[in-house]
Amino acid sequence: MNYQQGFVGQGYGFEASNQPPPYPSSPGPGAGYPPQYTPYPQPGLVQAPPTQYGMIQPQPEPGLVVVAGIPLTEVPGQAHCPHCQKLVVTETRYVDGNLNRLWALILLFVFWPCCLAPFCVDSCKDVEHRCPDCRSVIHLYKRL
Ligand SMILES: [Zn+2]
Repeated sequence: MNYQQGFVGQGYGFEASNQPPPYPSSPGPGAGYPPQYTPYPQPGLVQAPPTQYGMIQPQPEPGLVVVAGIPLTEVPGQAHCPHCQKLVVTETRYVDGNLNRLWALILLFVFWPCCLAPFCVDSCKDVEHRCPDCRSVIHLYKRL
């Protein structure tokens, strides 16, 4: 019993400290103002700024900026280098890719003396596009 009385006493003390401060006395008769409605924004009706979905454009490929919509294939083309931020005409170089490896594998089973021939045929290889200024690879054109 003593424990509960002590708890109630603490509760009273807490409520007493939470009482609002006393209002200042009204200046006299005739001071009855009509209640003013302050236009608080209602919770739940807060309008979020509209997201502009129409502004998002599909990116063709990260790191590759193709100029004038011409994709880089096996011939040199204009591209925007993402490394030196210049508009350049790429330098191409043939590198081994999946297509000539596949042809080599096929020829290994069909006619094995020619299985290395696809590595000598440029039209079977992938094409590497490099920036002529900074020598970095801008794009790799894959045939397969
Ligand atoms: Zn560059």
